[in-house]
Amino acid sequence: MNSAPLRTCFAAMTIAYAVGWTAAADDDEHRFLEWKAGVAKAVITPETPVWLAGYGSKRPPDGKLHELWMKALALEDSRGQRAVLITSDFQGVPKSMSDRVFSQLKAKHHLDRAQVMFTFSHNHCGPRLGDDLVDYYPVEAEQVVLVNEYTDRMVDKTVALVGEALAALSPAQLQTGTGICTFAVNRRNNREADVPALLAAGTPLVGPVDHSVPVLSVTRPDGTLAAILFGYACHPTTLSFFTWCGDYPGFAQLELERNHPGATAMFVNTCGGDQNPLPRRTVELCQKYGHMLAAAVEEALQQPLPPVSSGLQTAFQYVELPYLKVVTRDELTALTKDANAIRARWADRLLKKLDAGEQFEAAYPYPIHAWRLGREMLVIGMGAETVVDYALRFKHEFGPGTWVCGYADDMISYIPSRRVWQEGGYEGGSNLYEYGRPAFRWDGSIEDRIAATVHKLAKQVRE
Ligand SMILES: [Zn+2]
Repeated sequence: MNSAPLRTCFAAMTIAYAVGWTAAADDDEHRFLEWKAGVAKAVITPETPVWLAGYGSKRPPDGKLHELWMKALALEDSRGQRAVLITSDFQGVPKSMSDRVFSQLKAKHHLDRAQVMFTFSHNHCGPRLGDDLVDYYPVEAEQVVLVNEYTDRMVDKTVALVGEALAALSPAQLQTGTGICTFAVNRRNNREADVPALLAAGTPLVGPVDHSVPVLSVTRPDGTLAAILFGYACHPTTLSFFTWCGDYPGFAQLELERNHPGATAMFVNTCGGDQNPLPRRTVELCQKYGHMLAAAVEEALQQPLPPVSSGLQTAFQYVELPYLKVVTRDELTALTKDANAIRARWADRLLKKLDAGEQFEAAYPYPIHAWRLGREMLVIGMGAETVVDYALRFKHEFGPGTWVCGYADDMISYIPSRRVWQEGGYEGGSNLYEYGRPAFRWDGSIEDRIAATVHKLAKQVRE
C-alpha cells in the first residue's frame, strides 16, 4: 500500500465484518455478561535525572511537557480466561526487565507469559531503562546507578499496576473499529529533507505505509467509556529535545482523555519500525500529529462499532532468530578504536565478555504473542522494531480485525522483513551492534521464521 496523498485524518468506513454480531449482542443484559475489563494507570516520569532514551547521545532531562504514563487493560471472558495488555511511554523495554515483570506476575497473579503483553510506544522523549541500548550512550558511573534504580522501581510499578487492573475487573462491552491517519512516512523511501517540498507540491510520497488506526473501546453497563485502545505504525520521534513527554502518542492520549473524562486512552505502536512522523522536530508538529491521531480515533468511535463477542484465547512462543554470523574476537579487537563511538563501546564490552569465558549465542529468542478476542479480533504481538511489511502481510493473511503490534516485551533491534533485509540500509543492514547483539546482521530467513510461528500461534488461538 502506498502512502495516500491526503494529509488529513478521517475515519475509514467501519467494516461490518462482525459475524458474531447477532441478536444476543442487542440484548443489553446479555452483552455485558460476555466480558469483564479492568483499567489502571500510573505516572512513570522519572524523579531523578535519568537521561532520555534514543538518538545515541547523552540527553539529561530539562523538564517536562506532560507526565509519562504506563497503563494496563485486564480482560476476562465469561469462562474466566484472562489477559493483560500493558502500554507505556517507554522507548525500549529490555528482556531483562520484562522477564522480571513476567515472573512476578506469574507468582503473584498466576498469569502465564501467554496472558501478558508488555508494550512500549518507542517514545524518544522517555527515559532509559536497564540493559536497553547499553552501548548507545556514553558510560557514566552515576548514570548507570540512576538507570538501574529507575528500572527496579518500574518493575515494581508494572507489577502493582497489573494487580490494580485485575482488581478492577468488572462487566464491560468491547467494540472495535478502524480509523485512518496519514502523517506516517516511509523513511526508507523518502528523504526527510525532501518531504516538506514533496507535500507542498502535492507529490505522492512513496514506499509501504500502514495508515490504519485500529480502535478498541471498553464501555461500562451505564454507558460510560472506561478505555480507548488505539494503534498506529510510526516512530514517536517527532521530538529530539531533552524534555519529558510522550511525543505524538502522548498528545493523542491526552486529547482523548480530555474528550472523554474518566476514560483511559492507551496506545500501541503497530509496525512502525521504518516509519517516521515527517516533517518533524517542533512541538507544534508533535501536537498536530497527536491531534490528527486523536481525531482519527474519535471518528472511528462515532461509527456504529460492532461488539466483540465472547471468548479469549492466548498463545505465546519464542522463535529462535539466527544471526548471519556471530562476531569474532579479531573483528571486535579491530573495532575497539573505531571512530563510531557506539561500535567502539560495543566491541570493548563484548571483548570483556569473551575474556570472562562467555560464548555468544548464535541466535536470539524472539517473542511472539497471538490473542483472539471473540470472533472479531486477532491481536498479534511481536517483539522489537518490526517494519511495516509485517503488519501489511499479516492483516492481508488473517483479514479484518487483525491487529499487528510491534514493540512488545523486548526491544532487541530492528526486525526487517525479507524485502528490507535484501535492500539493506539502516533497518535491514549491518547495525545489530547498536543494540548490543553479538553480530552485525540477522540471517536472511528472519521473515520466514517469524511468519511460520505467527501462523502456528494464530491457528492455536482460533481452534
Ligand atoms: Zn526505532
